[in-house]
Amino acid sequence: MDKDQIKKIKETDKLLRKRFGLPERNDELPDPVDMLIATILSQNTNDNNSYKAYKNLKEKYPDWESVRNAKRTSIESAIKVAGLGKQKSAAIKNFLEDLFESKGELSLGHLSDSKNLDAISELSSYKGVGVKTASCVLLFAMGRNVCPVDTHVHRTVNRIGIVEAKTPDKTFLKLNENFPAEIAHSFHTNLIRLGREICKPKNPSCGICPLKDICQYEFKDVQIKKTYKANNFMLLDNVKKKYKD
Ligand code: SF4
Repeated sequence: MDKDQIKKIKETDKLLRKRFGLPERNDELPDPVDMLIATILSQNTNDNNSYKAYKNLKEKYPDWESVRNAKRTSIESAIKVAGLGKQKSAAIKNFLEDLFESKGELSLGHLSDSKNLDAISELSSYKGVGVKTASCVLLFAMGRNVCPVDTHVHRTVNRIGIVEAKTPDKTFLKLNENFPAEIAHSFHTNLIRLGREICKPKNPSCGICPLKDICQYEFKDVQIKKTYKANNFMLLDNVKKKYKD
């Protein structure tokens, strides 16, 4: 990214923090395996449902070893609230089996010294794990300054004019070429909130958007001032090892 793009990322982050505040994070970084499985569960559903599915899975099985040895259909029944149970249970089981087979343990500790792109490349080589899931593991469980790109981040950064790319994975590569230090978590999390509450896919509410003065979206319409419900619960900032209740 060039200097202007980096400047725009910093400006966007500042304006979003002014509107939404500094997003809360997990008190301590969760285990990367927990995070990867939580992220698989979060695909194509909302954070409330994926949170329930993750909690059900943790309550049903004492550890990931038991999930690895469980029948896929049993995993599917535990996570059905998150939807796509067949695909997600298969992805979870495949990942645990492949990880155990290649490393001899259910741990991603070996990635702690890997460069970001190497770690993403290894994680996304597991069937059912894409670049978004892999980059969430790096940001939310390994504390790396990496900005994952989901559908909200892809749509908003392209509308704002920070990058120009056709797919989320292409946006990810452009954005993370030299992402400014320390702000990946706030930038990523607040952009998701912007995408859920204001910069919707259809009829974005530009009239109440904190970015309306810097956004370059060709169809920006500041007359639209519709308000939406606040939606700031983020599963990946609430992944825990154990659930008591
Ligand atoms: S000004 Fe409109 S298009 Fe631009 S980020 Fe805000 S809501 Fe989205």
